[in-house]
Amino acid sequence: MDYGLGDKTALIYGLGSTGMGAARGLRDAGVHVAVWDDKFAEGVDADMPFTVLKPDEIVWSRIGALIKSPGIAPTKALVQKALENKVPVLCDVDLLARRERGHDVSFIGIIGTNGKSTTTALVGHILRESGRKVAVGGHLGTPAMQLPELPTGGIYVMELSSFQLDMMRELRIDGGILLNLTPDHLERHGTMENYLNAKMRMFALAKPDAMRVMGTDQPILLAEAAKTGDFITIGVRNEAAITVRDGWIRDRGDKKIKLSDFPLLPGPHNAQNLACAYALLVPRFVTIQQFLKGAASFKGLPHRLEDISVIEGIRFVNDSKATNAESAVYALQSFQHVYWICGGQPKVDGLGDCVNHLENVRAAFTIGDAAGIFCNELQAHKVPTFRCDTLDKAVADAYATARTEGLEGAVVLLSPAAASWDQFRNFEHRGDVFVNLVRSLAESQGPRRRLYS
Ligand code: ADP
Repeated sequence: MDYGLGDKTALIYGLGSTGMGAARGLRDAGVHVAVWDDKFAEGVDADMPFTVLKPDEIVWSRIGALIKSPGIAPTKALVQKALENKVPVLCDVDLLARRERGHDVSFIGIIGTNGKSTTTALVGHILRESGRKVAVGGHLGTPAMQLPELPTGGIYVMELSSFQLDMMRELRIDGGILLNLTPDHLERHGTMENYLNAKMRMFALAKPDAMRVMGTDQPILLAEAAKTGDFITIGVRNEAAITVRDGWIRDRGDKKIKLSDFPLLPGPHNAQNLACAYALLVPRFVTIQQFLKGAASFKGLPHRLEDISVIEGIRFVNDSKATNAESAVYALQSFQHVYWICGGQPKVDGLGDCVNHLENVRAAFTIGDAAGIFCNELQAHKVPTFRCDTLDKAVADAYATARTEGLEGAVVLLSPAAASWDQFRNFEHRGDVFVNLVRSLAESQGPRRRLYS
């Protein structure tokens, strides 16, 4: 298996986990591999297990492909040099497509601004539960090139980022979902149109009979779907082929999925994820019975509206992944009485659209660098808000307030609407600290607590 490179060298550009995965996969297949990362300009780690090729030493006629890491902008000089020298610039999913060429396997791609990881994991889970051989990865979890080789009939379910897509050339999917599109990464893509075009590459390259699913709540996607008529449209807020209405997912009006059967997938955004998964999978990949059975045993992903515990009737939910206002809005709409812990390293738009969705918020508890600004903003919107600064104080205060009010359906929700780097290593670390605080609280409350496993 030479990945179509013959005896030419694969030059890996960017050595994060994706680049390292690609380098290892190619080397193990016997391909010549060389690597470069801009950080090598300051010195190369002595343990680097691959040949390092400096940009000014590259003989382009010996390079079969430049494998670009997703984080590297296509405008970078080395990428442009490769293109000038007619060297194909590929991403790791293209290599996976080359590796699997001629094998009877399928590819599913899941893209969008929010909900990719959840939907990818959900689709993978339902397929696996229905007895299919599945590998799940890409932007989420295992990089594409480290996914195992699957037997005949196997399905690769991949979350793809717009950074992977903007130069993808060879992956031809059998099914794909574009969940939504809201302004994000515009520093890289420039305009919403460019951002959309990057996403649409996946469908442009798809097999002709591929399943094409698109969430059409945003006008830009509604217009895009209308252009070709090739998409099964999904509407949570609008009319569409598949809609979410009155607690049901309806297929052309017919009730198909009762949302209250899936309490671990709360909120309108998870209803959208479920509806997209349904449109993609039923009936092409699984039956409706298999779908419902599989979805019912899906526990969600950690740090995304993750149910942690119920203490004295108060539920604790970890949504540490909500690093921007957009995601937190969905969390705020997902529960009846919210004691909201928010804050961290603020994004440019502060609490953004969250201030238009405060009707379920009983009280807020602000932390991190944003503690002061968020506190002022929320108080200006008449939400009783307590500046706590630290997560441990916020958990204790939110719990005490919720207990005092004693409302049925009370939820202490960590959904920060801000990045985590001011006080934590990353959003996972922030979520783990929250979970541990809640567990200690549960222990301190004695045997009447109820903890989820
Ligand atoms: P991604 O991989 O695209 O970042 P995740 O599944 O990790 O998406 O979810 C990121 C955040 O977005 C979480 O806070 C989650 O609750 C929220 N979210 C999940 N699905 C959606 C959706 N369909 N639309 C908007 N927000 C969503």
